[in-house]
Amino acid sequence: MLAILWIVIFLAAFITLAYKRVSLITATAVIGVLLAICTLTSTGWGFGLALWVIFAAIFVPLNVTAIRKPYITRPVLDLFRKVLPTLSSTERTALDAGTVYWEGEMFSGKPNWRRLEELPAPQLSTEEQAFMDGPVQTLLDMCDEWKITHEDADLSPETWQYIKDNKFWGMIIPKQYGGLEFSAYAHSCVLAKVGSGPAGGTVGPIVAVPNSLGPAELLMHYGTDEQKDHYLPRLAVGDEIPCFGLTSPHAGSDAGAIPDKGVVCKGTWEGEEVIGMKLTWEKRYITLAPVATVLGLAYKMYDPDGLLGGETNLGVTCALIPTDMEGCHTGRRHFPSSAPFQNGPTWGHEVFVPLSFIIGGQDMIGQGWRMLMECLSVGRSISLPSGSTGDAISNARLTGAYAVIRRQFNVSIGAFEGIQEGLARIGGKTYACESVRRFTSNAVDLGEKPSVASAIAKYHVTTMAQDVAKDAMDIHAGKAVMMGPSNPVARSFQAAPVNITVEGANILTRSMMIFGQGAIRCHPYVLAEIEAANDSDKKAALNDFDELFYSHIGHDFAAAARSLVMGITGGLGSNVGKAAALKPYYQAMNRYSANLALLSDIAMATLGGTLKFRESLSARLGDVLSHLYIASATLKRFTEDGSHKTDLALVQWVCEDAFAQIETALAGVLRHLPNRPAAWLASFLIFPLGRTARVPGDVLGRQIAELVQTPGEVRNRLTNQCYISQTNQEQGVALFELAMAATLDCTDLQKKLVKARKDATVTADHPRDQIEQAAEAKVFNADEANRMRQLYELQMAVIRVDDFDPSEMQAAKRKQPDEQPSRAA
Ligand SMILES: Cc1cc2nc3c(=O)[nH]c(=O)nc-3n(C[C@H](O)[C@H](O)[C@H](O)COP(=O)(O)OP(=O)(O)OC[C@H]3O[C@@H](n4cnc5c(N)ncnc54)[C@H](O)[C@@H]3O)c2cc1C
Repeated sequence: MLAILWIVIFLAAFITLAYKRVSLITATAVIGVLLAICTLTSTGWGFGLALWVIFAAIFVPLNVTAIRKPYITRPVLDLFRKVLPTLSSTERTALDAGTVYWEGEMFSGKPNWRRLEELPAPQLSTEEQAFMDGPVQTLLDMCDEWKITHEDADLSPETWQYIKDNKFWGMIIPKQYGGLEFSAYAHSCVLAKVGSGPAGGTVGPIVAVPNSLGPAELLMHYGTDEQKDHYLPRLAVGDEIPCFGLTSPHAGSDAGAIPDKGVVCKGTWEGEEVIGMKLTWEKRYITLAPVATVLGLAYKMYDPDGLLGGETNLGVTCALIPTDMEGCHTGRRHFPSSAPFQNGPTWGHEVFVPLSFIIGGQDMIGQGWRMLMECLSVGRSISLPSGSTGDAISNARLTGAYAVIRRQFNVSIGAFEGIQEGLARIGGKTYACESVRRFTSNAVDLGEKPSVASAIAKYHVTTMAQDVAKDAMDIHAGKAVMMGPSNPVARSFQAAPVNITVEGANILTRSMMIFGQGAIRCHPYVLAEIEAANDSDKKAALNDFDELFYSHIGHDFAAAARSLVMGITGGLGSNVGKAAALKPYYQAMNRYSANLALLSDIAMATLGGTLKFRESLSARLGDVLSHLYIASATLKRFTEDGSHKTDLALVQWVCEDAFAQIETALAGVLRHLPNRPAAWLASFLIFPLGRTARVPGDVLGRQIAELVQTPGEVRNRLTNQCYISQTNQEQGVALFELAMAATLDCTDLQKKLVKARKDATVTADHPRDQIEQAAEAKVFNADEANRMRQLYELQMAVIRVDDFDPSEMQAAKRKQPDEQPSRAA
């Protein structure tokens, strides 16, 4: 009996020490003291002796460096080198290019919530706010979605000019070069508002691309002074239109495989013989290529004749090519999914250019991949998460309004639970999109190059916005299907796959990048261990690895103990942030963070380098990391917004959804982990009481549906960057807002009318006739009848769809296309 008690005491002590993550020496001392008490209080010396032998066998070698290093650490290091994940040079460059942001805390197994709270909130300067209220609003006022996306398949010449004149393409360019030098957050707010506006899927990329990964960004970081002085002022005001060509027909996601090349040779340039390169390229999908004046080109450089005195294969390099130079061909336009921004192919064959065309000059030969990776994380933190958030925001506003305005079965459709389910998803996901957009763009302003966080933001915000667009379509139903100027939702649904595909196609991003990079980049020990193991100085390698490895083991014991304890307690008593209302979410996230730390180490330890090929496992672990990131961004946003109690339902929805997805992902990894004993042990530690997270419930869903349909502060905060036209109230969000307000204003009158129809005071079938009959029968007084007439007009304006003469629908046949230009050499 006493022996059982002591086993329980030792187990409890062991779990507590691991949970608290005490040092090895403290753990040794505590266990030693307990053992001494146990030995003194027990009767059998044999039992006590056995325990001391076990204690000595474990703790002496661990605590005595002279034994530990040669007899434990060295064999482990040899084994580690064998299972070490192999990193290709492109993976290595990608890893080195980024920094670790908040996602690193998620991998720690014990997030420091104070750090989250202390991150400064992003803010717009007066100048940036004025740009949002002025030029951005005016630009969107100039955009007619149907004209842009159907009739002209382009912006009007005035709109292009307005973009240039107001320096929309100079948001990232410093003021010394004539740019706007906006913060990343302001840049993101502009793109979110543009994304929420008419033809956001078309105008968005036109504004975003020159500010994202491309000539301006690359020049600012790597350009020579001469290149900066020449190009940046011209790019800021649109005298030069940039595009950037990486993708080729043969290399999309696998961009490192581009066959495009530059061969170093001698040639004549401006009448003189110089060393330059002959460029051969074939690129496609290049945004702005059809109108670009300068092409940023990524290609592989070779020096077969050793003219530069070094290696033959020089690596990926980036150059700027004026598009009007002989041999540089711009093809016809591609037609991206209902978002006809300028996009097309470009090619050239053995076009001779001087080495001074290389961005950064000769010093940057072969540095292209590093340059792209370093800049990608910044652009990816901003462009797509912002544009997609804008989409979600306008869809939330439009759909909430439509659910109020549209009536079936004598009530607004928003009263139906089926519609409320969709509205709840729209509200929750829109809140999450905006939270992640803010949190990630702010990271850039805080000096981060958040490679993993930007991949999370890119994947999840574009995916959530696509989900929102789908729900918006289903709720608008026939109204959303019928194309035309009166349809405000279909274009964003049709264009959503563009955001899913670009800057790292989403399936690849989820399967390979989020955890693939996150596990190594954000893990507190793995990258340092890899570096130690690869150190050619064997002694230093052993010393460094020794320190890291035992800290890593401590980290794993802590993660295991924390998983088990918090799996039982739900995280009760664990560290929380200051906001009392958010306590349960902090606690749940402590638990899931410990689960992520434990399970990712078990997966890496049992699968080693093969984990990166087990994409489904890697993707699920990435899902755990991503949803922890999304929930963190949401908690941060709630406090930044002023901790309004009224917003708590949105926070609850996002967190419950995130936690349910985290548990599904964890269960998926546990189910498919090939090493079954490891999976069983991990299942016991992670789910000691089974799965506990629940998807957001119906009551909560109804609360959010209500909130999306109720004009006021909460709805405005939810959709705060939404464009609402001040000049045209006959279309889009502005019209829907008016009609919603009128519908809500007439709620009692609608009820009177329903009653009058029930008691046969009103017998007309047509709604307009019903209003007139109700007025005649004094169901409505004169003022009420007028309000109902106005409401009828507004409702008709919203539910009306377009029809066309057959000849209008044959627009594509109007003109025979020009002959396709030849790409033959
Ligand atoms: C509208 C538009 C604008 C663009 N603008 C530009 C531009 O300005 N400049 C430029 O250089 N490029 C541009 N692109 C190219 C874009 O970046 C590529 O489309 C993208 O990299 C994907 O390449 P792909 O379309 O050839 O797909 P593929 O690489 O053929 O991929 C097909 C599918 O396979 C998946 N996949 C691929 N590899 C893996 C893997 N290892 N694991 C799991 N899944 C995988 C992908 O996720 C995708 O779903 C643009 C593309 C579009 C559509």
